[in-house]
Amino acid sequence: MDTNCIFCKINVGEIPGDFVYRDDDTFVIRDIVPKAPVHLLVIPTVHVERVAELASEEMSIIAAMFRAAKEAVRIEGIVERGYRLIVNQGEEGGQEVPHLHMHVLGGTHLRAMGLG
Ligand code: AMP
Repeated sequence: MDTNCIFCKINVGEIPGDFVYRDDDTFVIRDIVPKAPVHLLVIPTVHVERVAELASEEMSIIAAMFRAAKEAVRIEGIVERGYRLIVNQGEEGGQEVPHLHMHVLGGTHLRAMGLG
């Protein structure tokens, strides 16, 4: 745990989060500033900033994130409708929170919302 990290604090209950799903390796919360009707964040419990930091033997974290995303979209009922998975990396990638996470956007036609 990084004691300065907002996502680490949400994971341990130090600050509130709107949890959708949790397993041994990840948790999924609703984004506090949703950009679509469904806007979730899939977050590994281990504090890692970027994919580039992961060693080969740590790539199971990525699989765990996709597994959690699969469960979360099932819970949200958007499996068939479709959705978008986004991972922002670093300053030019638009990453604001330096703890690896994957956005799940859905619940509407994202192009109609101006989201690409
Ligand atoms: P990124 O720009 O990829 O780092 O995304 C960080 C996301 O975290 C943004 O969409 C924020 O709205 C979201 N966020 C920041 N603080 C919180 C929080 N306390 N609970 C839920 N989402 C948050």
